[in-house]
Amino acid sequence: MVITNQIVIEKAKELGFELIGFAKADPLIDETLKLQKWLDLGYQSGMDYMNRNFEKRKDVTQVLPEAKSVISLAMNYYTDYKHGNRKEYGKISRYAWGKDYHLIMWEKLELLEEYLLQIDPDFKCISYVDTGSVMDKAWAVRSGIGWLGKHSNVINREIGSWIFLATLITNYNFDYSKIIPDHCGTCRACIDACPTGAIVEEYVVNGERCISYQTIENKGEIDKELKGQFDKWLFGCDICQDVCPWNHKFSTVTGEKEFEPLNGIELNLNEILNYDETEFKSRFETSPVKRAKLTGIKRNAQFLMYS
Ligand code: SF4
Ligand code: SF4
Repeated sequence: MVITNQIVIEKAKELGFELIGFAKADPLIDETLKLQKWLDLGYQSGMDYMNRNFEKRKDVTQVLPEAKSVISLAMNYYTDYKHGNRKEYGKISRYAWGKDYHLIMWEKLELLEEYLLQIDPDFKCISYVDTGSVMDKAWAVRSGIGWLGKHSNVINREIGSWIFLATLITNYNFDYSKIIPDHCGTCRACIDACPTGAIVEEYVVNGERCISYQTIENKGEIDKELKGQFDKWLFGCDICQDVCPWNHKFSTVTGEKEFEPLNGIELNLNEILNYDETEFKSRFETSPVKRAKLTGIKRNAQFLMYS
């Protein structure tokens, strides 16, 4: 039996993916030109992995030689809680409130792939969730999931930008989705609200100045120049998405219970400084916060306390 768009969409929705789009597996010429410019400016900062596998990022046939299409899938992770701005607490980014989305989405992708393979044993695919050499945002745009906002996150017209992306490269032909035009218009709310000036121009984020990069990816010291500018963000930062009118208008609560907060949405800074490895591991075992490691989360807490 032949796998159609409808078959993929129905199964993916049943598994909990809200948005599904299809794109032809053409090389990402314009997108990689922009990526090269961003890399040349050093905006990847310490994210050295961004310099690697450029050709694979550009052309998915370098990953799967028989690639014909790319399927983008998205899950809404919005839950309706607000940070309390309490004294001596640090804020956690919304994406890290619940169980690690990689674990949730990998499981769903595996079920989707198994299902499609049962329909056609010749179906081949390689899937990614935010890892590996795949330009997930570019593919989400090409497959009509949404447009790339000026804060460089993908925005969907119906549910906003609180979405996790998965990318599936396949040897199958599908009917391709229509690309959604950019709806940012003259808005620049995210640029104006960014406390560190990290959105250096429309659609361009300098990782070195971004609180998300500094609190999650940076393995060294946090640049002292940024002292006093973190607005109590301990792990990640949501400001540019919080102020986006598309999120104000269209965010709806996810149906995925595993995205509900596991450990609270802000943490006491003094408690963090007293964590040992065992406590940190048991508390954040299945949380995205574990990416910062104990040393990183303590460094962030200290940075907030003494800035
Ligand atoms: S995540 Fe925060 S620091 Fe980074 S660009 Fe957005 S508002 Fe600026
Ligand atoms: S805040 Fe405005 S400019 Fe920024 S991504 Fe949202 S719509 Fe676009």
